[in-house]
Amino acid sequence: MRLSRSHEKVLKRAFTSILAKEREEISKEAKQILGNRSIDIFLDWLSRFYAGFTNTIQGELLSVYLLMAESLKEQVDQEENSTQGMTNELIAFVTSYVAVLSSRHIGQSIVQIKGALSKAGEQGSDLLDSLDETFQTWESDRINDEVSEESVRATNAITKQSYKEVGIRKLQWVADDNPCIFCQSLDGKIVDINGSFVRKGEEYQPDGAEAPLKPSRNVSHGPLHRGCECTIVSVRETITL
Ligand SMILES: [Zn+2]
Repeated sequence: MRLSRSHEKVLKRAFTSILAKEREEISKEAKQILGNRSIDIFLDWLSRFYAGFTNTIQGELLSVYLLMAESLKEQVDQEENSTQGMTNELIAFVTSYVAVLSSRHIGQSIVQIKGALSKAGEQGSDLLDSLDETFQTWESDRINDEVSEESVRATNAITKQSYKEVGIRKLQWVADDNPCIFCQSLDGKIVDINGSFVRKGEEYQPDGAEAPLKPSRNVSHGPLHRGCECTIVSVRETITL
Protein backbone atom coordinates (compact mmCIF):
# COMPACT_ATOMS: atom_id res chain seq x y z
CA MET A 1 0.00 0.00 0.00
CA ARG A 2 2.83 2.37 0.78
CA LEU A 3 5.11 0.75 -1.82
CA SER A 4 5.89 3.37 -4.32
CA ARG A 5 6.82 2.60 -7.89
CA SER A 6 8.74 5.86 -8.12
CA HIS A 7 11.19 4.50 -5.52
CA GLU A 8 11.59 1.43 -7.65
CA LYS A 9 12.65 3.49 -10.64
CA VAL A 10 15.32 5.35 -8.72
CA LEU A 11 16.55 2.14 -7.14
CA LYS A 12 16.74 0.49 -10.53
CA ARG A 13 18.91 3.29 -11.85
CA ALA A 14 21.26 3.01 -8.89
CA PHE A 15 21.57 -0.78 -9.07
CA THR A 16 22.06 -0.69 -12.84
CA SER A 17 24.92 1.71 -12.42
CA ILE A 18 26.49 -0.36 -9.60
CA LEU A 19 26.29 -3.63 -11.54
CA ALA A 20 27.69 -2.00 -14.70
CA LYS A 21 30.73 -0.65 -12.84
CA GLU A 22 31.20 -3.94 -11.07
CA ARG A 23 31.04 -5.90 -14.30
CA GLU A 24 33.39 -3.58 -16.13
CA GLU A 25 36.13 -3.59 -13.51
CA ILE A 26 35.95 -7.32 -12.89
CA SER A 27 35.93 -8.18 -16.61
CA LYS A 28 38.96 -6.00 -17.23
CA GLU A 29 40.98 -7.69 -14.50
CA ALA A 30 39.68 -11.16 -15.37
CA LYS A 31 40.98 -10.80 -18.94
CA GLN A 32 44.46 -10.09 -17.64
CA ILE A 33 44.66 -12.63 -14.84
CA LEU A 34 42.42 -15.49 -15.93
CA GLY A 35 44.11 -15.75 -19.33
CA ASN A 36 46.75 -17.93 -17.63
CA ARG A 37 44.04 -19.68 -15.59
CA SER A 38 45.45 -18.33 -12.33
CA ILE A 39 42.21 -18.52 -10.40
CA ASP A 40 43.81 -18.09 -6.98
CA ILE A 41 45.44 -14.82 -7.98
CA PHE A 42 42.15 -13.64 -9.44
CA LEU A 43 40.21 -14.52 -6.27
CA ASP A 44 42.81 -12.66 -4.20
CA TRP A 45 42.33 -9.62 -6.39
CA LEU A 46 38.54 -10.03 -6.18
CA SER A 47 38.43 -9.86 -2.40
CA ARG A 48 40.65 -6.74 -2.45
CA PHE A 49 38.41 -5.25 -5.14
CA TYR A 50 35.24 -5.76 -3.11
CA ALA A 51 36.83 -4.41 0.07
CA GLY A 52 37.00 -1.09 -1.77
CA PHE A 53 33.90 -1.44 -3.94
CA THR A 54 31.64 -1.36 -0.87
CA ASN A 55 32.33 2.38 -0.71
CA THR A 56 31.19 2.78 -4.31
CA ILE A 57 27.96 0.90 -3.57
CA GLN A 58 27.25 2.86 -0.42
CA GLY A 59 28.06 6.10 -2.23
CA GLU A 60 25.57 5.29 -4.99
CA LEU A 61 22.83 4.16 -2.66
CA LEU A 62 22.98 6.38 0.40
CA SER A 63 21.51 9.50 -1.16
CA VAL A 64 18.76 7.45 -2.84
CA TYR A 65 17.85 5.78 0.44
CA LEU A 66 17.90 9.03 2.38
CA LEU A 67 15.43 10.55 -0.08
CA MET A 68 13.26 7.49 0.23
CA ALA A 69 13.43 7.75 4.02
CA GLU A 70 12.50 11.40 3.92
CA SER A 71 9.35 10.73 1.94
CA LEU A 72 8.35 7.67 3.99
CA LYS A 73 8.92 9.56 7.25
CA GLU A 74 6.77 12.38 5.97
CA GLN A 75 3.94 9.92 5.30
CA VAL A 76 4.28 8.37 8.75
CA ASP A 77 4.35 11.83 10.35
CA GLN A 78 1.16 12.78 8.55
CA GLU A 79 -0.53 9.53 9.44
CA GLU A 80 0.43 9.77 13.10
CA ASN A 81 0.03 13.55 13.55
CA SER A 82 3.72 14.13 14.17
CA THR A 83 5.81 17.14 13.16
CA GLN A 84 9.12 15.37 13.78
CA GLY A 85 10.43 15.18 10.20
CA MET A 86 13.79 13.59 9.41
CA THR A 87 15.80 12.72 12.53
CA ASN A 88 19.47 11.95 13.16
CA GLU A 89 18.31 8.57 14.38
CA LEU A 90 16.66 7.84 11.02
CA ILE A 91 19.76 9.00 9.12
CA ALA A 92 21.88 6.64 11.25
CA PHE A 93 19.40 3.83 10.65
CA VAL A 94 19.49 4.32 6.87
CA THR A 95 23.29 4.55 6.86
CA SER A 96 23.70 1.23 8.60
CA TYR A 97 20.92 -0.32 6.51
CA VAL A 98 22.81 0.61 3.33
CA ALA A 99 26.04 -0.85 4.76
CA VAL A 100 24.31 -4.18 5.44
CA LEU A 101 22.70 -4.10 2.00
CA SER A 102 26.12 -3.51 0.42
CA SER A 103 27.63 -6.57 2.12
CA ARG A 104 24.64 -8.67 1.12
CA HIS A 105 25.02 -7.55 -2.49
CA ILE A 106 28.76 -8.26 -2.49
CA GLY A 107 28.20 -11.66 -0.86
CA GLN A 108 25.84 -12.62 -3.68
CA SER A 109 28.24 -11.35 -6.33
CA ILE A 110 31.14 -13.37 -4.94
CA VAL A 111 29.08 -16.57 -4.73
CA GLN A 112 28.00 -16.14 -8.36
CA ILE A 113 31.49 -15.34 -9.65
CA LYS A 114 33.02 -18.32 -7.84
CA GLY A 115 30.17 -20.47 -9.15
CA ALA A 116 30.90 -19.39 -12.72
CA LEU A 117 34.60 -20.21 -12.35
CA SER A 118 34.08 -23.62 -10.81
CA LYS A 119 31.46 -24.50 -13.43
CA ALA A 120 33.96 -23.66 -16.17
CA GLY A 121 36.60 -25.70 -14.31
CA GLU A 122 34.35 -28.76 -14.16
CA GLN A 123 33.27 -28.52 -17.77
CA GLY A 124 36.69 -27.55 -19.06
CA SER A 125 35.15 -24.52 -20.73
CA ASP A 126 36.48 -21.01 -21.03
CA LEU A 127 36.63 -19.11 -17.71
CA LEU A 128 35.97 -15.73 -19.28
CA ASP A 129 32.96 -17.02 -21.25
CA SER A 130 31.49 -18.53 -18.12
CA LEU A 131 32.03 -15.29 -16.22
CA ASP A 132 30.43 -13.36 -19.02
CA GLU A 133 27.37 -15.61 -18.98
CA THR A 134 26.93 -14.84 -15.30
CA PHE A 135 27.26 -11.12 -15.93
CA GLN A 136 24.57 -11.37 -18.58
CA THR A 137 22.15 -12.85 -16.05
CA TRP A 138 22.91 -9.86 -13.82
CA GLU A 139 21.51 -7.64 -16.53
CA SER A 140 18.59 -9.86 -17.49
CA ASP A 141 17.42 -11.06 -14.06
CA ARG A 142 19.46 -9.93 -11.10
CA ILE A 143 18.77 -6.21 -11.39
CA ASN A 144 15.00 -6.71 -11.46
CA ASP A 145 15.03 -9.30 -8.67
CA GLU A 146 17.25 -7.21 -6.46
CA VAL A 147 15.29 -4.01 -7.07
CA SER A 148 11.85 -5.47 -6.45
CA GLU A 149 12.95 -7.31 -3.32
CA GLU A 150 14.89 -4.34 -2.07
CA SER A 151 12.09 -1.86 -2.57
CA VAL A 152 9.76 -3.97 -0.40
CA ARG A 153 12.38 -4.60 2.26
CA ALA A 154 13.60 -1.00 2.40
CA THR A 155 10.12 0.51 2.44
CA ASN A 156 9.07 -1.72 5.31
CA ALA A 157 12.29 -1.36 7.30
CA ILE A 158 12.29 2.43 7.04
CA THR A 159 8.55 2.65 7.76
CA LYS A 160 8.98 0.49 10.85
CA GLN A 161 11.85 2.66 12.11
CA SER A 162 9.74 5.78 11.45
CA TYR A 163 6.83 4.34 13.43
CA LYS A 164 9.19 3.56 16.30
CA GLU A 165 10.44 7.14 16.33
CA VAL A 166 6.96 8.62 16.60
CA GLY A 167 6.13 6.32 19.51
CA ILE A 168 4.13 3.52 17.84
CA ARG A 169 4.36 0.29 19.82
CA LYS A 170 2.48 -2.25 17.74
CA LEU A 171 2.53 -3.27 14.08
CA GLN A 172 0.11 -5.16 11.90
CA TRP A 173 0.90 -7.27 8.84
CA VAL A 174 -0.98 -6.32 5.66
CA ALA A 175 -0.87 -8.97 2.92
CA ASP A 176 -0.42 -7.86 -0.68
CA ASP A 177 -3.15 -8.16 -3.30
CA ASN A 178 -2.45 -11.70 -4.31
CA PRO A 179 -0.89 -13.31 -1.24
CA CYS A 180 0.49 -16.81 -0.93
CA ILE A 181 -0.90 -19.01 1.83
CA PHE A 182 1.83 -17.95 4.29
CA CYS A 183 1.26 -14.23 3.82
CA GLN A 184 -2.50 -14.68 3.79
CA SER A 185 -2.36 -16.26 7.21
CA LEU A 186 -0.15 -13.44 8.53
CA ASP A 187 -2.60 -10.84 7.25
CA GLY A 188 -3.92 -8.85 10.21
CA LYS A 189 -1.49 -10.34 12.72
CA ILE A 190 -0.37 -7.82 15.34
CA VAL A 191 3.00 -7.88 17.10
CA ASP A 192 5.04 -5.62 19.35
CA ILE A 193 7.13 -3.19 17.29
CA ASN A 194 10.29 -4.90 18.55
CA GLY A 195 8.88 -8.37 17.99
CA SER A 196 8.64 -10.67 14.96
CA PHE A 197 5.78 -12.02 12.88
CA VAL A 198 7.68 -15.27 12.36
CA ARG A 199 10.67 -16.14 14.52
CA LYS A 200 14.03 -17.33 13.25
CA GLY A 201 14.04 -21.12 12.88
CA GLU A 202 10.32 -21.39 13.63
CA GLU A 203 8.50 -23.92 11.45
CA TYR A 204 5.66 -21.79 10.25
CA GLN A 205 3.00 -23.92 8.62
CA PRO A 206 -0.45 -22.40 8.34
CA ASP A 207 -3.43 -24.63 7.45
CA GLY A 208 -3.26 -25.63 3.82
CA ALA A 209 0.50 -25.13 3.44
CA GLU A 210 2.22 -28.24 2.13
CA ALA A 211 5.48 -27.66 3.94
CA PRO A 212 6.60 -25.33 6.71
CA LEU A 213 8.49 -22.13 6.10
CA LYS A 214 11.57 -21.89 8.31
CA PRO A 215 13.07 -18.40 8.17
CA SER A 216 16.80 -17.95 8.71
CA ARG A 217 16.19 -14.67 10.52
CA ASN A 218 13.43 -13.07 12.55
CA VAL A 219 10.77 -11.75 10.19
CA SER A 220 9.65 -8.37 11.50
CA HIS A 221 8.28 -7.17 8.13
CA GLY A 222 8.04 -8.29 4.47
CA PRO A 223 9.31 -9.63 2.19
CA LEU A 224 8.61 -13.01 3.71
CA HIS A 225 9.72 -14.71 0.51
CA ARG A 226 10.74 -13.91 -3.05
CA GLY A 227 8.05 -11.83 -4.75
CA CYS A 228 6.31 -10.93 -1.46
CA GLU A 229 4.97 -7.37 -1.40
CA CYS A 230 3.35 -7.37 2.02
CA THR A 231 3.50 -4.21 4.10
CA ILE A 232 3.04 -3.16 7.71
CA VAL A 233 0.80 -0.57 9.34
CA SER A 234 0.73 0.92 12.80
CA VAL A 235 -1.82 -0.17 15.35
CA ARG A 236 -3.35 2.62 17.38
CA GLU A 237 -3.82 1.71 20.97
CA THR A 238 -7.10 2.67 22.56
CA ILE A 239 -6.72 4.50 25.80
CA THR A 240 -9.07 3.30 28.46
CA LEU A 241 -9.81 5.76 31.20
ZN1 LIG B 1 3.85 -11.51 1.45
